[in-house]
Amino acid sequence: MNRIYVDHAATTPVSEKAFAAMLPYFRESFGNPSALHSYGQEAKKAIESGRRAVARAIGAASSEIYFTSGGTESDNWAIHSACEMKRDRGRHIIGTAIEHNAVLRTLEKLQQRGYTVTLLRPDARGRVTADRLEAAIRADTVLISVMLANNVVGTVLPIEALCGVAHRHGILFHTDAVQAVGHIPVDVRKLGVDLLSLSAHKFHGPKGAGALFSKLPRLPLPYITGGGQEKGGRSGTENVAGIVGMAAALTECVDGLSERMRYLAGLRDRLIERTLQIPGAYLTGDPVERLPGHASFLFDGIGHSARLIAMLNEAGICASAGAACSASATEASHVLESLGYDAARNQSALRISLSTCNTEAEIDAISDRLPLFIAQLRRK
Ligand code: PLP
Repeated sequence: MNRIYVDHAATTPVSEKAFAAMLPYFRESFGNPSALHSYGQEAKKAIESGRRAVARAIGAASSEIYFTSGGTESDNWAIHSACEMKRDRGRHIIGTAIEHNAVLRTLEKLQQRGYTVTLLRPDARGRVTADRLEAAIRADTVLISVMLANNVVGTVLPIEALCGVAHRHGILFHTDAVQAVGHIPVDVRKLGVDLLSLSAHKFHGPKGAGALFSKLPRLPLPYITGGGQEKGGRSGTENVAGIVGMAAALTECVDGLSERMRYLAGLRDRLIERTLQIPGAYLTGDPVERLPGHASFLFDGIGHSARLIAMLNEAGICASAGAACSASATEASHVLESLGYDAARNQSALRISLSTCNTEAEIDAISDRLPLFIAQLRRK
C-alpha cells in the first residue's frame, strides 16, 4: 500500500539535498572539529559554513547562531539565559498558554525557583494582541516568550508587534520559531527578537540538530559545561553531519520559499474546503494567519479522534490529533483548551500538515475518505 504522510508538523523526511550533503561527514570527513589536523579542520570548516547558511536564512549574523540538539534545547537555553542575564531586574516572565511544552515546562521549572509566570490566553483563533501583552507587563518582567507559529492549530502570531511592546519596556523577547522557520519568511531583524529557536527536523533536515539565534552580547549561561564548544555556551563535540544537513535543508527551503508557500497553501485550502463540507466539522486556528501547509479540524460527535487517526492509518493515511511531538500524543491538547474548546470538542482534533512531497491526488484521497470515516464513527 502506498502511504500518504501528512504529519509534517511532527517531523519531515530529510531532503535528498540535505542527505547528500551530510554523507561525507559520517565517514570521509569524520574529524573532531576541535582537532588541529586536516580532518578536524575540514569538520570545523563545515560547521562554520553551516553557521553562515543558517544565519543567512533568517537574516542574522553568523556570530549570533549557536548550534543545539533541536528546538527543545534551544527553548530551554534561551529562557534560562535570558532570566539569568536579567536576574537583577526581576523575576516575572510572560508566555502564552499555547506554547509548546519545551517552553511551558521550562517556565514551570523557573516558577519552582521563585519566578512568577503569566500565561496569556489567546483569542479563539490563537492570536495574542499587543494590548493584551502590554496589560500583563510588570516592573519586574524580565522576559516575554511567544511562539511564532503554533504547532497544534497552525496560527501565525504577530511577533513583530509583540516584540515592539517588549522592547518599549526594555524586556527581552524570545520566540519559538520551530514551526515557522523554513515554512514562512523569518527575518530576525524585521521581527526584532532577541532570541529565536529553530529545529532542523521540521524543515527536511535531520533530527537532533537545531539552533538558537541570540543577539545578546553573550549567552550568560554555559548551558552545558565541558570542552567549551559554541563559545563556551554549549559544550560537547558538535553534530557535524547534523549541522551540515540542517544548513542544506534550510537553504533549500528558503531559496524556493514563495513557490513552496503558494503550492502548500493551494493544497491546504483544497483540503479545508472539502473538509468543511462535512456537517459538524470546524477549522481550528486562524483561517488567514496560518501556516501554509497546516490544516486542523474538530468534528462533532466522533468521540476521541484516536479512532479516526487509526481508521486513516488503516487506509494508509498518516495524520495526527495535534501535538505528536510530545511523549504522550493522546493527551488532551492544552492549546485547544486555551482556545476555549470544551473537553468533548477538544478530543476530536485532527491535524493534517503538508509538505511539497504531498500532491493534489493525495489531498483528494484524504477528502474522499474523511466523510465516510466520520459518518462511520458517528454511527458507533
Ligand atoms: N517547539 C515547537 C513549536 C514544536 O512544534 C516542537 C516540536 O517538537 C518543539 C518546540 C521541539 O522541537 P524538537 O523536537 O526539535 O526538540
